[in-house]
Order: sequence, then C-alpha cells, then structure tokens
Amino acid sequence: MTTAGEPDGNLIEDLVAANRILAAQGVVDGFGHVSARHDKNPNRFLLARSMAPALVTSADIIEFDLDGNAINANGRTVYLEIFIHGAIYKARPDVKSVVHSHSPSVIPFGVTGANLRPLYHMSSFLGNGTPIFDIRKEAGMTDMLIRDNTLGASLARALGDQAVVLMRGHGSTAVGNSIPQAVFRAIYTEVNAHLQSEAGKLGPITFLDPEEARLATETNNGVIGRPWELWKRSVGKID
Ligand code: MN
Repeated sequence: MTTAGEPDGNLIEDLVAANRILAAQGVVDGFGHVSARHDKNPNRFLLARSMAPALVTSADIIEFDLDGNAINANGRTVYLEIFIHGAIYKARPDVKSVVHSHSPSVIPFGVTGANLRPLYHMSSFLGNGTPIFDIRKEAGMTDMLIRDNTLGASLARALGDQAVVLMRGHGSTAVGNSIPQAVFRAIYTEVNAHLQSEAGKLGPITFLDPEEARLATETNNGVIGRPWELWKRSVGKID
C-alpha cells in the first residue's frame, strides 16, 4: 500500500502537541494514545509508534489504514490497541481525532455502573450520561485489551454517537471533530469524574439538564481554541 501523501504540517504538530498535553494533564502516562484522521485521505489515520506519549516527536508518527495496518512503519512497533482508532473512524465519519486513556478518576464509573454525567459546564459534552463497554459481555475472558477489529467494532457500537465511551476495568475513549476537541473532552472527562466522586461525598448532585448540556456544548465548541493555545504553549517547542 502507498501512503496518502505527506500530512499537513500543522496536523502533525498538533498531534505531537496532543500527546504531550495529555501526558502533562495526567490523562495518559506510559500508556494511552491519541490519533488524528489523515487530512489527505479519510480512510487513513495518524498515530505514534508504540511509546510513551510524553516522548513523541513528529518522526514517531505512522500512517495506518482503518483496519489498523501500518502503511509506513519501517520496522517500528505499533500500539496493541491500534484497532480502537480505525474502528471508530469507520463508524463515525464526523470524528477527526480519538484519545484512548486509562485516566484514573474515570475508572470507578466503568466498574460500578454509576453514571458519569456532567456536573458543570466544561464537561457538558457528556450529555445525558456516558455509555459503558464491557469487554466480557462481548468476548468472554480476555486480557481486557482491544486487540482486533471485531472488538474495535464492538467498542465503536457502544460509543454510538456519543463523545466518550467508558471501558469496564480498563479506561475510556474520547472522540472529537478536531484534535483540540478530542483533547478537551479527554481532559474534562477526567476532571468531571474526579469532581463527581468528590461531590457525591457531600450530598446528592444536581447534574446539568440535557438541555443545559446541549447549550453549554454549543458555547464551549466556540472557545476550545483558548485552552488549546495555552496547553500547546505549555508543552514547549514541538520537534
Ligand atoms: Mn488501553
């Protein structure tokens, strides 16, 4: 297979920045990954080789087809859970970026069935609650990872048309119509999860009404550039 061509330089720069931002914000650590749909071909996406996100440079970005086949790996190893990304890009033409993480505050919601819901405006994209993907119901006993396209497609079905899907006993996956939007959602999913666990100790929580969530999301989508510029500046020069 031949590559879709050289991606836009700004796309690569933003993808590298996204890796470092998500690490700096505590969404990813040694594990977790963020991808972007290729700007030259919607049936291709870009993702780093298997490595810690904080260390990613533009030289580490590999092009993949939507089945998770590397086009230009040149011997570099790829993430085991590559299939998360292609399956979601197949199912969701609107999605341009995918973040998969094990961000800690979110984990309790995947294992208790407590509904992760927006309790403030920044996480309004959580809408009326967050779907949970339970790999055991799909595939029985596994090592919990999305290791093939069948599991990837199941995860994409669980995500549906939502912004975030929780993965029981594992983590979560957030999507966006741009790299900044996917990063914004991954960060504020973690923040909301932390706040929801804390608020629940104080008393019953008044969540955003679905209509409040819809209106706040419209507003937020117009201002994502502001935190994005801050986050991007904070991770230094991108190489
Ligand atoms: Mn994982």
